[in-house]
Amino acid sequence: MTEKVIIIGSGPAGLSAAIYLAREGFDPLIIGGSIPGGQLMLTTKVENMPGFPDGIDGPELIERMRVQAEKFGTRFINEDVIGVEFTSRPFIIKTQSNNYQADAVVIATGASSRMLNIDSEKRLIGHGVSTCATCDSPFYKNKDIVVIGGGDTAMEDSLFSTRFCRSVTIIHRRDSFRASKAMQEKVLSNPKIKVIWNTEVIEILGEEKVTGIRLKDASGKITEMPIDGVFIAIGHIPTTGFLKGKLMLDDQGYVAAKEEVLTDIEGVYVAGDNSDKFYRQAGTASSSGIKAALRVREYLQKIQK
Ligand SMILES: Cc1cc2nc3c(=O)[nH]c(=O)nc-3n(C[C@H](O)[C@H](O)[C@H](O)COP(=O)(O)OP(=O)(O)OC[C@H]3O[C@@H](n4cnc5c(N)ncnc54)[C@H](O)[C@@H]3O)c2cc1C
Repeated sequence: MTEKVIIIGSGPAGLSAAIYLAREGFDPLIIGGSIPGGQLMLTTKVENMPGFPDGIDGPELIERMRVQAEKFGTRFINEDVIGVEFTSRPFIIKTQSNNYQADAVVIATGASSRMLNIDSEKRLIGHGVSTCATCDSPFYKNKDIVVIGGGDTAMEDSLFSTRFCRSVTIIHRRDSFRASKAMQEKVLSNPKIKVIWNTEVIEILGEEKVTGIRLKDASGKITEMPIDGVFIAIGHIPTTGFLKGKLMLDDQGYVAAKEEVLTDIEGVYVAGDNSDKFYRQAGTASSSGIKAALRVREYLQKIQK
C-alpha cells in the first residue's frame, strides 16, 4: 500500500503538518520516533505560544496537538526512521520493522541541543537548566544565571537575558570567544555580564531545582557558585543522520531548504528545527509544518492523488 503522505517526526512541526493534512482528507501517517513529542517534552511552562495566556506545559501542548491531529484521522507509529529512498517513486521510508511507501514526505525531525554530558543536566532540564534563552530567560526576572558557551548563540543568549536577569555570568572553557567581534564587544561592555574564562561546569547542583554549579578551572581547582539558572548554549545538532546522501544537507547537517519548506526533491518537504538555525521556536516550527502541508496538498493535487 502506498500512503499519500508520511510525516517523519512528532514535534510541533510534524503535528501541525498532520493537523492540516488530516483535516483536508490526505490521511497522513506520522512516523514519530521511538521517543515521540520532540523538544517540548523536555520543558515545563511554555509562556510564548499564542493562544495560551496562562502558559501551558510543553508535554500538554504536544498532547493537545496530537489529539487534534488524531481527531481528523492521523495515524501514528512510534518508531525511528532508519533509512529513506528518494530516487524512485513512490518514496520508501524504512523503520526497523517495516518499509513504507509514500507519494509525498514531510521531514520534521527537529534538532537537539549539544549538552555537557553530565547526569545533573538531564535531571534538572526544565527545572533551572535550559537550552533556550528566548523561551526561558523571562522566567529569571531579577535572578542570577550563567550561560555556558563562547559562540554567537551564547553571546545572543547572554545579551537577551540581561533584559530580565540581575546578573549573567558566561562560563567559557577557553580564553577567548569564538563569536563574532561585534557580538563580543557588546557582551564585554555590558555591565550586567561577567565572564569566567578557562573554566568548565562539571556539575549542576540542586535536587528539585537548580541551586548552583560546580566549576573546574584550568589549574584543576574546583569551586562552587550559587546560581538560579543555567543556560547551555554550546550548539545544536539537526536530527538528519539518516538523510545523508539522500537529499541536500548543508555543511552543518541542516536540510538545505531550496525555498522555505522545499527540498531539492519534488514531493519531499522539510519543516521545523532541522532546517532552522535561527528561529527555533514551537510557533515557528508549527508555522513551517503548516507551510509544508500546504505544499504537500499542492503536490498531491498536481500528481492527482
Ligand atoms: C528545554 C526547551 C524549552 C523550550 N521552550 C520553548 C518555549 O517555551 N517556547 C517555544 O516556542 N519553543 C520552545 N522550545 C523550542 C521548541 O521546543 C522547538 O523549537 C520545537 O520543538 C521544534 O519543533 P520540531 O517539530 O521542529 O522538532 P522537535 O520538537 O525536535 O521534534 C522532532 C521530532 O522528530 C522525531 N524524530 C527525530 N528523528 C526521527 C527519526 N529518525 N524517525 C522518526 N522520528 C524522528 C522526534 O522523536 C520528535 O518527535 C524549547 C526547547 C527546549 C529544548
